Amino acid sequence: MSSGDQDRQPPQAPEPEPPLGPLQPLQPLQTLAVLGAGTMGRGIAHVAALAGFTTHLYDTDGAALAKAEASIHKALAKGVELGKVSAEQAAAARRNLAVSTDLGAAVTAADLVIEAVPEDIALKVEIFREVVRRAPAHVLLASNTSALSITEMAAATGRPDRFAGMHFFNPVHLMRLIELVRGLETSQATLAALRAAGERMGKEVVEVKEAPGFVTSRINALIGNEAFRMLQEGVASAEDIDKALKLGLNHPMGPFEMVDLVGLDVRLSILEFLHRTLGESFRPNQLLVQHVRAGRLGRKVGRGVYAYDENGKKLAG
Ligand code: NAD
Repeated sequence: MSSGDQDRQPPQAPEPEPPLGPLQPLQPLQTLAVLGAGTMGRGIAHVAALAGFTTHLYDTDGAALAKAEASIHKALAKGVELGKVSAEQAAAARRNLAVSTDLGAAVTAADLVIEAVPEDIALKVEIFREVVRRAPAHVLLASNTSALSITEMAAATGRPDRFAGMHFFNPVHLMRLIELVRGLETSQATLAALRAAGERMGKEVVEVKEAPGFVTSRINALIGNEAFRMLQEGVASAEDIDKALKLGLNHPMGPFEMVDLVGLDVRLSILEFLHRTLGESFRPNQLLVQHVRAGRLGRKVGRGVYAYDENGKKLAG
């Protein structure tokens, strides 16, 4: 069919933007929606429900949601067993948590939405556009992105003042830090409200201006890359470099133990991004690149810098 005049449709009127309600971020937030029920989303939902927030965990994959709910219940039970939380707190957390594959139902009453879907800017932008159509006008928006631009996501929502990064760490219920990431137009009031929410979840909060790798990923990538460089130069063995940082500098893990846990492919992609955005000091070391080419991706495949048995136990030598 040709695209002649007779086929032209009248131009569609653009969908009206939802009205921006008054921003009252210093009111305590009570209802949270967490988007994505993977490693991070389930951890964030866990600490939110335990902190007394009404928490809606959303995922497009029903099986992932069921798995997430079971793992949160298991972690709460473990917390009771270890005496870290009381049986009443765990029961309240279970009551506070609802899971859903319906985005509208998850965000309809949300004061705060925390996004933890895969690290893909197009996906995140699309989901936030959907959220602003369905959430109350006063909603605050946060992304748990490891590296993507907060300002770019914020701009896509049309509410950049109400948008920030909340970078949690894995495992969320054990790691104490949140990097609170300020985009170009994030308001002070939004930052204050998100800081208060993070502290209510039992976390320490540091405020970071949007920059590649924030504070933690940038420093960690640099240390890990330098460790590979020393290994390549034969300065010391991997075991001794790890031992030196643990015993001499009080790092809880050595850089090679850490990269085996994170995944050498994941680390390489972070370094490539930091190299592009921050320059030469982040050029990925060749020995790391070779490990990735060889398929030595870390614990997840049983071999990285070190080798592991099928139970994940490090093998000698
Ligand atoms: P993951 O792959 O474990 O989980 C992602 C979840 O999102 C999956 O359950 C998937 O089903 C779901 N999902 C996919 N598309 C979706 C959609 N359109 N709507 C709703 N849910 C959808 O990922 P993760 O490791 O939890 O990472 C999530 C985010 O957190 C990423 O941006 C990542 O960079 C960041 N992050 C990860 C870590 C980490 O250690 N894993 C640490 C800090 C930040």
